[in-house]
Amino acid sequence: MIDIIFTPIPTSVAQNWWEGGPDEHGNPLETRISDGGAPCRHCLKNIKEGKLVLLGAYKPFSSTGHFAETGPIFICSDPCERFAGEKISSHR
Ligand SMILES: [Zn+2]
Repeated sequence: MIDIIFTPIPTSVAQNWWEGGPDEHGNPLETRISDGGAPCRHCLKNIKEGKLVLLGAYKPFSSTGHFAETGPIFICSDPCERFAGEKISSHR
């Protein structure tokens, strides 16, 4: 059994993005239309098909180690409530 733990991004990061701030690389966020499979990394819900989403690069690690990657994430285009705690998905 493998558990995958999803930790929501800090609200301060999401708030900065909702206010037009840049992503991890200093680029403006991209607005897209969800195909129904875009998970919001703040509320941890799938963003419904047809809804606007923000796409940007995010680095969840404070270290600069070899595995401290930066990757693309989606968040709801309108402010949403941060998921409380961590979401655990168990797989065999
Ligand atoms: Zn959301």
